[in-house]
Amino acid sequence: MPFRAVLFDFGQTLFQAPDAAALLTEAGVEPATAQRLWAEIWARALTPEELAKGRDLSEAAHRRHWMELFAAAEPHAPGISRRLYEAVMRVESWTPFPDTPAVLAALHEGGVAVGVLSNTAMALQPVLAVHGLDRYVSACVESFRLGIEKPDPRIFAAACEALGSKPEETLLVGDSHLADGAGVLAGLTVLLLPGVPRDTPRGLEAVLDLLQIRRPAPSQATPRNLRFRGDPA
Ligand SMILES: [Mg+2]
Repeated sequence: MPFRAVLFDFGQTLFQAPDAAALLTEAGVEPATAQRLWAEIWARALTPEELAKGRDLSEAAHRRHWMELFAAAEPHAPGISRRLYEAVMRVESWTPFPDTPAVLAALHEGGVAVGVLSNTAMALQPVLAVHGLDRYVSACVESFRLGIEKPDPRIFAAACEALGSKPEETLLVGDSHLADGAGVLAGLTVLLLPGVPRDTPRGLEAVLDLLQIRRPAPSQATPRNLRFRGDPA
């Protein structure tokens, strides 16, 4: 069956998380240590044990569990947990991958319904709006509002309903085999993309190929996060 709708995961699929290692360095942590600390915190955050804690079921749970994870950096920079958490929750901290805008625009122009489905404690429409991307997205489904999180099959069903699509005609695109991969249990087809370095294309054009939508022409525009010092904002 051809896909009529695409549901994207948000974090590390459409948008990249704040550069926490840079924040640690700004707080006085030596750069190599900052990189290592952040890699350890992030790796722990993605373990099945952490995901099973229900971190994204409510705003309170999200704050509690992330503050516990960030506490690993406290001996290196006292007070950093709160600053890291504030950065994670700041709308402006999240940036789209370089290929996100063109792929969302191409899907929208191709008549495909586009939704965002995220385990999060943050409203995502304002984050999309900062980058002018909300116009392409007809539904944002956030776990904390429903009190259900991926991999619970019910959240995938809720997202399809919000998008007005049937699971079998909906493609889910994500980065986590544990969270997003469970879309198959609700009848969706799932495309999982391996991680990429910061500020490099996410590989989202594979979605256009699957839906047989023409890839956009290469843009001459400089991505927001690759501007040089002195360029106009
Ligand atoms: Mg993700």
